[in-house]
Amino acid sequence: MIVMKFGGTSVANCEAITRTISIVGDRLAQKPVVVVSALSKVTDLLYRITDCAGARDREAADGYIDDLAARHTELAKELLKDSGSCDEACAKVEEICRELRDFVGAVCSLGELTDRSRARIISRGEWLSSTIICYAMNARGIVTRFVDARRMIVTSDCYMKGEPDMAAIAARVPEIVAEAYSGADAVITQGFIAATAKGETTVLGRGGSDYSASLIGMALDAERIEIWTDVDGVRTADPRIVPDTKSISRISFEEAAEMAHFGAKVLHPMTIEPAVMKNIPVYVLNSMNPAGEGTAILQSDRIEDGVKSVSYKENILLLNIFSTKMINVSGFLQKVFAIFSQYKVSVDLISTSEANISLTMDGNQDIDEVVKALSEFAEVDVDRDKAQISVIGKNIVNLRGLLKQTMASLKDCNVYMISQGASFVNISFVVDRSSMKDAVREVHKYLFEDNGYESGDQRIR
Ligand code: ASP
Ligand code: MG
Repeated sequence: MIVMKFGGTSVANCEAITRTISIVGDRLAQKPVVVVSALSKVTDLLYRITDCAGARDREAADGYIDDLAARHTELAKELLKDSGSCDEACAKVEEICRELRDFVGAVCSLGELTDRSRARIISRGEWLSSTIICYAMNARGIVTRFVDARRMIVTSDCYMKGEPDMAAIAARVPEIVAEAYSGADAVITQGFIAATAKGETTVLGRGGSDYSASLIGMALDAERIEIWTDVDGVRTADPRIVPDTKSISRISFEEAAEMAHFGAKVLHPMTIEPAVMKNIPVYVLNSMNPAGEGTAILQSDRIEDGVKSVSYKENILLLNIFSTKMINVSGFLQKVFAIFSQYKVSVDLISTSEANISLTMDGNQDIDEVVKALSEFAEVDVDRDKAQISVIGKNIVNLRGLLKQTMASLKDCNVYMISQGASFVNISFVVDRSSMKDAVREVHKYLFEDNGYESGDQRIR
């Protein structure tokens, strides 16, 4: 069995879905479980609908739901115009939108928007897309069964970012998929959507469909997990910033996890973990160019040493903690991290000196309480004008001269912090946000352009 996940742009419209279905059609021998995202931009629209519901602005919410219904109905008509199931599919779309309208109406009149309600609203995008695509696949001769992802992906009751229960998922998925497969060519389900053990709808957090795919792959012991997007796999840097990026044909699970975590937008950061558990290869492929090679994400021993990419994170926060009380005192770090843990703020990079701790974290986190608590025993300085650049590659510590070259290419900017991961997979720098783009271009140029550096080289020339 294989899992094929298609992101929003791969199911954006009739043309994209038609292409996607033909990609699935080529893989039927491998028994695909197809996992789909919402049509592109639909989840954003659903977030706006929840905001309206929270503000009790029913009129605005209804307007957006009209847009949602119109887009999906038009799509169903276009995809199914020559088939007998068009009316049935359109009726389903209408029903889903009507239920959503009623639910949003109820939230507006109650005047209370909980995360539980929010997740129910947000989950409708994948429900709509998977419903329509299931009809379209059947209409094109692929006998496809629809499976409700909430029966398979069990999470905690953190409704907007459910924590998957791996054991429950592993126990449920094989049977559900096997049953759905009887007499069918393919199975389709929703990405992103999950449920608590009690069956209440949750979602996995933004971009969570990749994660759904790898959870299902893990549970099925799949042969491979394919993540179909709109770019040719993973690149050496973000092509929106760097003009001459190269595509990477293979990277290790660890490299991919670091890249996803440190800014590359190709994969949801949690996607790798379930795949690693069962050593399942993950392929990042382009649905606009199905013949392309893409990127294979494999076990580390199948991957060459060397620099693979330069990633960045623009919206980070640098926290400097200064206290003379930490000099020669044990337990200070514990005290500091107990506070981060208490307020559930997660930290990326850490660097300490005798009286100073510097930490970076995602800039979207609310750290007011943390700062308040730390200020009781230390001086705390919060800096939001910084960005982080990470050079990622397997065993990069073995690359003689890497640091020298990288630092040389950073000669025009201040470097506030350097951190080399214990995993030897990542060296990160904190620079001013204003100089970040130039710095990424410079570092990339040094590592991948000027030197004709190839992945696998042991030296930086
Ligand atoms: N539709 C969800 C989102 O946009 C999940 C996903 O596409 O991965 O965040
Ligand atoms: Mg995505």
